[in-house]
Amino acid sequence: MPLTLQRAELQRHQNFIGGRWVAAAEGRQLPVSDPALDQVFAQVPDSGAVDAQAAVDAAQAAFPAWRATPAKQRAQLLKKWNDLIIAHQEDLGRLISREQGKPLAEGRGEVAYAASYVEWFAEEATRSYGDMIPAPVTGRRMMAVKEPVGVIAAITPWNFPAAMIARKIAPALAAGCTVVAKPAEDTPLTSLALARLAEEAGFPAGVLNIVVASRERAAEVVDVWLADSRVRKITFTGSTPVGKHLARESAGTLKKLSLELGGNAPFIVFEDADVDAAVAGLMAAKFRNGGQTCVSPNRVFVHSAVHELFVEKLAARVVALKVGPASAEDSQIGPMINARAVDKIARHVQDAVARGARVVVGGQRLTSLGSNYFAPTVLINADAEMACSCEETFGPVVPITRFDDEADVIAAANGTPFGLASYFYSRDIDRAWRVADALESGIVGINEGALAAEAAPFGGVKESGYGREGGRHGLDEYMHTKYLCQGNL
Ligand code: NAD
Repeated sequence: MPLTLQRAELQRHQNFIGGRWVAAAEGRQLPVSDPALDQVFAQVPDSGAVDAQAAVDAAQAAFPAWRATPAKQRAQLLKKWNDLIIAHQEDLGRLISREQGKPLAEGRGEVAYAASYVEWFAEEATRSYGDMIPAPVTGRRMMAVKEPVGVIAAITPWNFPAAMIARKIAPALAAGCTVVAKPAEDTPLTSLALARLAEEAGFPAGVLNIVVASRERAAEVVDVWLADSRVRKITFTGSTPVGKHLARESAGTLKKLSLELGGNAPFIVFEDADVDAAVAGLMAAKFRNGGQTCVSPNRVFVHSAVHELFVEKLAARVVALKVGPASAEDSQIGPMINARAVDKIARHVQDAVARGARVVVGGQRLTSLGSNYFAPTVLINADAEMACSCEETFGPVVPITRFDDEADVIAAANGTPFGLASYFYSRDIDRAWRVADALESGIVGINEGALAAEAAPFGGVKESGYGREGGRHGLDEYMHTKYLCQGNL
């Protein structure tokens, strides 16, 4: 079924390179499916090396003038882009929901969230201050100034088709960089629509370039960017194995890197927690986007003293979740992105049950709705050996482990190579600081389940990557510091 938008032209089916909409050089096409129906509803280019090269040529050609454009003008263009994104919230929300599967309300919410980064970095563009440095000897003036790094390559995942790309493009353009971007193969249409609105906002040709490719040809496109010394930075959000590959391959030209990788977030409920607040926090953190978020609690630890109460209250909320297609206004959990994703979730639940976990709610595919649906699930008696504790499940599954001791639970929470987000609930202020200090993650939610905000630095430690998106830190990622030293004439 084709998607009908109020502004049909937001559905683009070509690459955006050098200010022009173009087919892939080799003419290949990539089908885009609706995960709710598992049906193809659009075709986009399946690009290769020639297209990747053309994008870098365009971005490099645009860089000198864009870099020289006063920050205030760059900010005005970003503000215009933000206004256009907000003005088309409904169309963009529908596009996101159609290609990614999240419920419409969340699709609209993601548009506002993406726009918030554009607005934030429009404001930050004018504040990329340097420093005057007190000279250690007489007769010198010393200063540090910020410069854009150059052409940047952005590679993004499918789970937030608007937000992930906006929070890379906006700071890059604000800093004076130009961009080549490859969105995820499952969700290319949203980024093309955003590029259409950027074009309408009036960004100069070549400042932003989007190249779409299938999973099979993603490496061909990105390899061109990795090898090209004109690309000075790679900014990537996605899985840890691909992030490590990019780190290795960008060593040849020593590019700057930001890697926002996978997580395995712990969520701890202490005996002194407000149990209702903890349940509400877990519902918000776990079930957004059907559990397909990098900061989704993947391992839930509940103190024995409140375990029964917590499980009972959580189960009552989970069983009431409405699962359905994104297009139904009352859906709270949509389809998973594709069959591979549902297979992984089913494998994790089967593995957990085989190793002694018990299903309290859910636990099975919802085949009556379609092939990509999985029931929101609560498991108890989870342990560290289960696949759901070691790997990101990326689905609506809550595995709960009982604990009795603070030091043990911190050791368990940190017992993973990942370190993106962690959460805990406690009403003891001393414990709050102690636990927040001890958790090895880039983000900690203290009595809070909804953490992401454009004003905050978002990113991980350990194998969840490095670099920060958002906040004042987000702009620095796209700039380097130049030291100027003036002596006496
Ligand atoms: P993925 O790593 O499979 O794909 C991400 C992007 O990399 C896609 O655009 C894909 O086409 C591209 N890619 C795949 N193989 C490549 C290769 N060999 N060379 C170059 N590019 C390649 O990840 P995904 O399945 O799309 O996304 C889910 C993952 O993203 C999860 O692990 C999730 O935790 C992570 N994620 C992290 C954050 C964060 O901020 N830390 C945010 C969202 C998602």
